[in-house]
Amino acid sequence: MIDSHCHLADTAFDDDLPAVLARAREVGVERIVTIADNLPEAEKCIGLAREFPQLFATVGVHPHNAKEWKRGDADRLRTMVASSQKVRAIGEIGLDYHYDLSPRDVQRDVFREQLSLAKEMPLPAVIHCREAIADVKAIIGDVGAEKFVLHCCTEAWNDVSALVERGAFLSFTGMVTYPKADVIRSTVEQCPIEKLMIETDAPYLAPVPYRGKRNEPAFVAEVLRKVAEIKRMDIVEVDRITTENALRFFGIALVG
Ligand SMILES: [Zn+2]
Ligand SMILES: [Zn+2]
Repeated sequence: MIDSHCHLADTAFDDDLPAVLARAREVGVERIVTIADNLPEAEKCIGLAREFPQLFATVGVHPHNAKEWKRGDADRLRTMVASSQKVRAIGEIGLDYHYDLSPRDVQRDVFREQLSLAKEMPLPAVIHCREAIADVKAIIGDVGAEKFVLHCCTEAWNDVSALVERGAFLSFTGMVTYPKADVIRSTVEQCPIEKLMIETDAPYLAPVPYRGKRNEPAFVAEVLRKVAEIKRMDIVEVDRITTENALRFFGIALVG
């Protein structure tokens, strides 16, 4: 298993990260991608990836933090990418019109600039989208982005099928286990398994039966179990394919 998206630089893990990683390893999580929400977190993610061989990092500014984006930040991201072999994507970037923690026009500008940077590097992009799928699709089209994942996908299949057809991956969290998440389960059902990844988005969104607690990478096993159930596939097969998808997407080797 791979936890393709979690936030190990979050202060929620400051006190017990080695124990968290040990529990992940125990249940068979072989690689973990720790995602940045802003530039200081990106530095912290790179440091963690240096310290722990099974960790890989992303660098980027979350739409919530878009209002803090400054001229020159794209260059700082370029420098971070060059500083470590373990930076494997630009993210998380995107649009969040649910919380609107940054003005929407600023979110769009910062998303566009970082998505262009990902294309230029070239690196895959980890995209966050909440109640903003039309604008996310428009910007992906404008930039001509080719390699990206819609993480924590909550969209209806009809709204994302065209993106998947042109190469996008969809990644699903513990929300697939939530009783009211029929739309998400329907999207899981219709998404080709070759285009599907699993993640925790820890420390948020713990799956049933851990809902309400701090989430952690070991719990990606619950996401895997639910995805296999929804797709009526053998869990070993779903594990193998989603693992290969994540390894290929992030350019990670399992050996070494
Ligand atoms: Zn997100
Ligand atoms: Zn996230």
